[in-house]
Parts: sequence; structure tokens; C-alpha cells
Amino acid sequence: MSLETLVQDPSIPAESTSGASAPYDFADFDTSVMTTYGRFPIALERGEGCRVWDTEGREYLDFVAGIATCTLGHAHPALVETVTQQIKKLHHVSNLYYIPEQGKLAKWIIDHSCAERVFFCNSGAEANEGAIKLARKYAHKVLEIDYPVIVTAKASFHGRTLATITATGQPKYQKDFNPLMPGFHYVPYNDLRAVENAIADLDEGNQRVAAIMLEALQGEGGVRPGELEYFQQLRKICDDNNILLILDEVQVGMGRTGKYWGYENLGIEPDIFTSAKGLAGGIPIGAMMCKKFCDVFQAGDHASTFGGNPFACAAALTVGETLERENILQNVQERGEQLRASLSAIASKYPQIISEVRGWGLINGMELKSDIELTSADIVKAVMAKGLLLVPAGPKVLRFVPPLIVSAQEVDQATQAVESAIAELTS
Ligand SMILES: *Cc1c(COP(=O)(O)O)cnc(C)c1O
Repeated sequence: MSLETLVQDPSIPAESTSGASAPYDFADFDTSVMTTYGRFPIALERGEGCRVWDTEGREYLDFVAGIATCTLGHAHPALVETVTQQIKKLHHVSNLYYIPEQGKLAKWIIDHSCAERVFFCNSGAEANEGAIKLARKYAHKVLEIDYPVIVTAKASFHGRTLATITATGQPKYQKDFNPLMPGFHYVPYNDLRAVENAIADLDEGNQRVAAIMLEALQGEGGVRPGELEYFQQLRKICDDNNILLILDEVQVGMGRTGKYWGYENLGIEPDIFTSAKGLAGGIPIGAMMCKKFCDVFQAGDHASTFGGNPFACAAALTVGETLERENILQNVQERGEQLRASLSAIASKYPQIISEVRGWGLINGMELKSDIELTSADIVKAVMAKGLLLVPAGPKVLRFVPPLIVSAQEVDQATQAVESAIAELTS
């Protein structure tokens, strides 16, 4: 059955039709917007909490959350209030002037992490670009390396700009965009020996490894958590060899793992880390954090027109304060455990289909067996017809990244939809 027939099946009840506008003309969209996405044939127009509604009034339980972005779900009263007040007051001014909201947000991040300095931008890729530039300048000015190399992991994801697709250790994102950026080298994730070998092999003439950039948990690459032992050893290796440890926390930062930052799950502190997706709950923002010692940027070295404007910073500050006030990290831990327990129960019922359930807090993956035809996209389509939005993390991994305010009942509803979809697809 095609996705079109699945989502248009009249036997699927449209639970709420209030506020629904006319059916959306997908062809109209496709003739004017670049084809950079494979899109599902639904158009979302309204949301509340963990639920969204399409233009035909059909309700979906949203376990995608804009891909790990809508931290507080949709239309959260605190976020609505903040952005409404802020846009009336002042929404954008240049970084040529002091922006109090930016200062407050930086302070909040510093108070809730190992960071000592913050730079604001607008997206994950841009935050990682900032980290790459900072590491290179640090290498030139402090480490006196003429040709600094940044080591990244295979199956990683760091963004879509030229430097960040180069940092991304997946050829599918790099194909057709040559020449790529020089100065990157890839190693397998969670493999200490490979990093040690790379550091030794790349130490040649005026070339040296200046930084290692990794995700604390690989999101896009299949929801693969970093291993404690690996990261602790890696921290030591970086210290012993004057190498900066950069963590890309764009997907896992800001509470997603049940702790504010992904590295807290690994018992280490990075020298530089980045955040974006969930930081302002869906208002575009990016941030690059570092320790004082590696902040070598001077006025004019790096900039962003929109970065750190009052609107985005006020939103992010509200997300942070709401996480604290409503004790949401505890919900992330409890709902995460509930979700993994339910998915594991499904996995033990279908051992011929599912190979593993893994994750931290509310970023979880369910991996399908590699020797079967069924893909994560097949299940995503099947659950969508049951009113659940999920997103793959590669061809064999289903990713579960609901808003952090998700309820126990909503987790149950989601796992029941997954189980019934798998039952149907395998019958
Ligand atoms: C999404 C993501 C990025 C890219 O973020 P954009 O805001 O799309 O540029 C970078 N790194 C990781 C780990 C991500 O998940």
C-alpha cells in the first residue's frame, strides 16, 4: 500500500476537524519549493502539546517534534507568552550593541553547564562552523600547528554547510559537492584504538591533530550512544596530547537525554560544545560554548547578523527556565525508561524483526534486523496511518524524539501504534 492510500484511507478517523482549513495542494508547493526533501503527503497547520493537526483536521501524536527540536511541545503557554511579549518590545537589533536577553541566556547556559563563554548563531551547522573556526584559530595561535586536522567519526552528522558536510563522516552527504574542505579525518565511533592510530599517523611535518569532534550520542547516524569508557579515555588522550575535545550536542543538548547536556551521561567535560535544535524549543537559534582557555576569538573574528537576537534568546531562556520550574528532566528520565521498556517488550515479541532498542532519556532508537526487507521508512509510513509521527535515523533505525513534556499515556499510545503496525506489516 502506498503512503498516499494509507494516509487518505477514510477508515482512519479524523479525530478533530476544528480549525481545519481546505486540503492542501501539494503540487502547488512542489512546483515552487526546491526538492531538497522527500516529503510525506500531509500538511501540518496546528499543534498543542505533543499533538499536531493537518489541513484535513487529522490528529497526530508527534514523536518527531521537528526532529528533537520542540522541547516544550507545541503552543506551550510559557513560550507563547514570552515570544508575544518580546516581539512587541524588541525582536532584533545588531550585535553592535549589548543585548540583555543574550547576556541572560549565556549566563543561564554557563550556570547549567561546564561552559565559560558562549557565542550565538542560528543553527546547528553554524554552531559547528564556529567550533571548527575556533579550534583552527586555537591550533594556529596557541598550539602553533600550521596544518591542524580535526578528527571526526564515521556515521556522524554535523550539518549541511561545506565545512560541516566535510566533518560529517557519511559519504552520502558529501557526494557531488567536491571539492570538500581540507583538514578532516574520520575514525570509527567508540573505537579508541582508531583515534590513537589517527593521532600518531597524522603527526607529520607541520600537520597535527588539533581537535576531535564527536556527538555524545550519534543521532542521525542511528541513535548510537557514546560509550562511557571510550569518552573517558578519549578525554585523557586529548589532555595528554593538547587536543581540543569538541562535542556536537545539537541534537542531544538542552535536556533531551534527561540531563541538560549529553556529556553529563559520559562523566567528562568537553572543551567546546555546540547546541541548537532544542535550545529555544523551535525558534531558530544555535550556540557554541567553550572553556575560557580556548576562547581565542577577538572582535571581528566571527559574527552572525541574526545570532543572539532578543527574540530567539528570550525564547531559549524561557525553555531553560521552564525545564527547571516544571522539573522536566525528571519526566525525560521516567518517560524514557517507560519508552525503552515498552519498545524492548515489542522487540522480544518480534526478535526476527527488531535487533536492538537503545538511547538516553527521550532520544531512543529501535533498530531493525539487517537481513530483512522491512525498513524504518516502512514503519514510519505505517504508524503515520495510525496517527503517530516518527522519523527514521537511517534505513534500519526508528527514532523516537517526542517533546520533553510527553505524558505516560502518550508514550503508551505511541508504543501501541508501533506494535500494531509491526504486527500488520509482518502478518
Ligand atoms: C541537526 C544536527 C545538526 C545540524 O543542525 P542544523 O540546525 O540543521 O544546521 C548538526 N549536528 C547534529 C548532531 C544534528 O543532529
